[in-house]
Amino acid sequence: QESAKRVLQLLESVSEMLQRNAERLGDIDAVAGDGDHGIGMERGVLGAVEKAREVAARGAGAGSLLCRAADAWADKAGGTSGALWGVALTALGTALGDRQTPDAQRVATGVREAKEGIMHFGKARVGDKTMVDVLVPFSDSLNEAVAAGASLTDAWLKAAQVADKAAQDTAQLVPKMGRARPLAEKSVGTPDAGAISLALIVNTVGDLLK
Ligand code: ADP
Ligand code: MG
Ligand code: MG
Repeated sequence: QESAKRVLQLLESVSEMLQRNAERLGDIDAVAGDGDHGIGMERGVLGAVEKAREVAARGAGAGSLLCRAADAWADKAGGTSGALWGVALTALGTALGDRQTPDAQRVATGVREAKEGIMHFGKARVGDKTMVDVLVPFSDSLNEAVAAGASLTDAWLKAAQVADKAAQDTAQLVPKMGRARPLAEKSVGTPDAGAISLALIVNTVGDLLK
């Protein structure tokens, strides 16, 4: 399956990127959280890639591959962000499906459903200083550009820039959710770890879509 192979390649690039950035993500999480975001993301994505390789070799489609990888990610990562990435990738995989090569509209819808899943499951809102502060503007930008007729690559690259800026902008926020809450004031001036990792991931995917 061509699109499944493509999704596997994307996951492998994300895995390499997260391994390079694990220490930095841990340091950001340590400012007001428990410092395990880098190691958690690394464990999660390694589990996801291992599972994706296994099911790709058995001829799985892109959607099922992502759903199986999602479960492995949540299992191996532990922590809040691992569970939320599991929810997001399951929503995306379900929206993509296995039948045909996903077009821009299907991908944009999948990203929107991933965002809705994370917000439903995690209950964070915009401004709480979480990955939601990146996911909402990323999904909105992607969906707007696709609705206006942009190609998937153009729409994704534009949305990835929006994500970068939104991740940096979390520095000024006071956290309301998750483990950073007890040390809320201490985190002002540092961006949210999960917001930064999400922006890194969508930019890594964007580089491969070019
Ligand atoms: P843990 O908080 O369990 O140690 P991680 O350190 O891996 O897990 O992930 C922390 C990140 O998860 C935060 O930086 C934030 O972006 C995200 N996060 C935490 N709680 C929520 C939530 N309820 N909704 C959305 N994102 C959240
Ligand atoms: Mg943590
Ligand atoms: Mg933790």
